[in-house]
Amino acid sequence: MEKQKSPVKIKNFTINNKYGTEDVVINKNTTITPITADFEYHSQEKVLSISSLTNVAPEQLVAIKGYLAHLSATKKIIVQGSELKKQEGYIADPSGSIKIIFWGNHTDEVQQGSTYFFNKVRVKISQDQKYLNTPKQESECIIESAEPFKETLPVVDEVSTSKEVIGSIIGINNVNKYSSCCTCAKKVTIKGKLAYCDRCKMTQKLSACGVQWSFKIVVHTEDNPPQKINLNIYGQQMVQKLFTICEITETASEDEAEVAILNTELFKFSFDTQSHKVIDIDPIHI
Ligand SMILES: [Zn+2]
Repeated sequence: MEKQKSPVKIKNFTINNKYGTEDVVINKNTTITPITADFEYHSQEKVLSISSLTNVAPEQLVAIKGYLAHLSATKKIIVQGSELKKQEGYIADPSGSIKIIFWGNHTDEVQQGSTYFFNKVRVKISQDQKYLNTPKQESECIIESAEPFKETLPVVDEVSTSKEVIGSIIGINNVNKYSSCCTCAKKVTIKGKLAYCDRCKMTQKLSACGVQWSFKIVVHTEDNPPQKINLNIYGQQMVQKLFTICEITETASEDEAEVAILNTELFKFSFDTQSHKVIDIDPIHI
C-alpha cells in the first residue's frame, strides 16, 4: 500500500504529543484498510529546513539539504561486537545548523565545503540535542550533490556546545599523575633526576617540573531516566577545583585521590558535548 500510495483508513491508533507535535502511533490494535479518497497524494519527501527539525519527532526519516560545514575523519568503532565506520559532520542551511553522523558505507561519501541533498536521514536525540544519522538500512538513504545555497549561511564554528548535569561519580576509569615540562606543561620523560620534554626538546631538572593530573570518570546523572556519561577532567584549573571540593592535597597518591573522589556525593558538571571535557565543576550539598 505504501508503494502504491493508496489511501487508507487507520483505526485504533494513539496520538503522541511528547515531542511537541501530534504523531500518529500505530500499535498492535491498529487496523489499516484501503479506501478511496478524493484528495491527491502528497509526497513525504519534502525537503525540510534545519530549523524545522525542532518540530520533528525523533526516529523520523527526513529529507534535508545542507552545506557540509565540518567533517571529521572516519573512525572505526565497535558496536555490539562488530566493527563499524563512523564519521561526524555539521551541515548548515540558511535556517541553522545540525550535527550529522555518517555510518558504514555512507562514511567518506561527502566532502567538506560541498552542498548535498540528504534523502532519508534519521532524526535522533541525545542529551536534549537533535542530530541526524544515516539509517541502519543504508540503501534507504541517498546522498546527492545539490546546488549551493544563494543565501548566506550561519557560521558553524561552535561545533561543540556545553551541557550541565548533576550527578555522582560512580567510577574512575583512569587516574594519571605525571610530571610536566616547566615551560609548556606537556608530560615529560624522566631520566633519573632529569626530565626531557618532547615538545620543547628541553632537558630540565625534575625538581623544576610541575605535577599534572588527569581523570577519566563515569558519572551517573540525576536525570529521569538516569544516564551514565564518561567525562574527562584535566588541566590545572579544573583539577585544582576538584581537589578543593574533595579535599585532596597536591602530594596525594593516585589511590588516595581516587578514594576521596568516590566518597564525594554530588557534583554539578559543565562539560563539552564533543570532547566530554569538564569545563566547570561545583559541589552540590544536600
Ligand atoms: Zn615543554
